[in-house]
Amino acid sequence: MAYEPMVGLAALAALLAAACTALARQTSRLRHEVEALGRALIAEKNRPPPEPPPRLYQSRQTAFALLWFPELVVDEKRKMIISVAAGVPHCAKCLRPMKLAGGVVDGRSAEEWICATCGDRRANTAADFTVAEAIASEAVREFLALHEDYRPGPGLKSDQPKPS
Ligand SMILES: [Zn+2]
Repeated sequence: MAYEPMVGLAALAALLAAACTALARQTSRLRHEVEALGRALIAEKNRPPPEPPPRLYQSRQTAFALLWFPELVVDEKRKMIISVAAGVPHCAKCLRPMKLAGGVVDGRSAEEWICATCGDRRANTAADFTVAEAIASEAVREFLALHEDYRPGPGLKSDQPKPS
């Protein structure tokens, strides 16, 4: 009967060893979690401040008795025009955006720009793609004339004189 306490001790030692292993595993996992949290905190501290959102500039152009309000999206940090959109033509009297509708010009069917407010009608050619492009280019040119340190972004027409 003298060996019984020995068995009991061995069992206790095994239990203790298992507990120690489990504890070590737990401690190691906790340490990894703390390290990960520390890294996340440092990354958060070192994160650069958020970039300011691009600014929107609107200009005003006139072509063929129609008004345009082209919009430029400008990245002020990089001093660059990101994009330009001519938008739609507006009625010169009401300043309301005009709508393109089917109509008859010189006896032939053609699309027309119509002002819903005053009923003013303009031929589609007064505000077609070519005109819109010219309006957009003029807006870029105008912006660059006022902001000399800015440049047009890739793919944007600057209409600056080409070096010869
Ligand atoms: Zn009108």
